[in-house]
Parts: sequence; C-alpha cells; structure tokens
Amino acid sequence: MESKQTCPHRTFNSPLAEPELRRMVIWDWYDGPEAGILICDKCGSNYYFFMVDWSQDQSTRVFALQRVNDDAIQTLVKLVEEEPRWPIWMPQILKFPSEFDRPWIDHINSVVLGLPDSHSLILAWSNVKHVPLRLAEVNATNAPFISRLLESDETSSPYNWFTFLGLSR
Ligand SMILES: [Zn+2]
Repeated sequence: MESKQTCPHRTFNSPLAEPELRRMVIWDWYDGPEAGILICDKCGSNYYFFMVDWSQDQSTRVFALQRVNDDAIQTLVKLVEEEPRWPIWMPQILKFPSEFDRPWIDHINSVVLGLPDSHSLILAWSNVKHVPLRLAEVNATNAPFISRLLESDETSSPYNWFTFLGLSR
C-alpha cells in the first residue's frame, strides 16, 4: 500500500492515462453511472463522484471527484447489508427501490452532501468498458464549471472537459 498522502498519485503535469480508480459503487444511475464512490486500487482512498459531461455517442462520461473519508465504503456496506461486488457494484436495494428505502437514500446523501465544495479531480470514464480513461487535476480556470449535468438545463457542460482531458467528444 502506498501512502495516502500521495493519493491520487498526482505527480502529473498533464492528464494521467489509466488511473488507479477502478472500483466503483453506483447509487445514481441514468443510462450509466451518474453518482457514487470510486476507490483507489493503490491506496484505498474513497472519492465521491458525479457526472459533469458526456460524449455525444454516450460512450464516455466525465466525473468530478472529491475525496471523502476512507470509511465511506464501510458505512455504505453496513447500510445496505450486502457484500460489495467489484469492480462495479450497484447495491441490489437500489435496483428495486421502494418507499422503504428512502431513509437509506437520505443517509447516503448525508455522507456526501455538506462536504466542502472542493472537487479537485476530473475523470473520464468509459461507459462501454466500464474503466477509467483519463484523470486530471481541476485548475482555477475550470473549477467554476463543475456542476451536476443532470441537475442543470444543459445537455453538455459549458466547459469542454474532453479537450481538457485530451479526448475527443
Ligand atoms: Zn490512491
């Protein structure tokens, strides 16, 4: 295990290909992952993510990442009373949601809401192969453009995250 001090292993000056963020828990789904937690394979750090952009052909999604407590995933496992399935896990309880599950959803939101607004990383994700493609640090220029795509009126981000990550749309 590498020191958590170095996570997300950001010793890069340009976007990092094949980042270590491969394990994903999804609790918000809309034709693909919309929000959840990503876990670093190298050191176990947990990141809350949500979608800020997607490619026109729907094959690639772009997520904003924010570091959360590394026990976030343990909290989640206790809540859903289900063993995680890696690398991609969508708890069964969310596949057939009911009113009964509402407190669970509220609790999950409380895990990630109320965090300081400090999304520090941007990740491109293949919605076909379900693997991370590129990772980059947010900078002062593009930080103001981070917002949840599905909660806005936009069909794509006003900032071109694909160009920033060195990918075509
Ligand atoms: Zn790490």
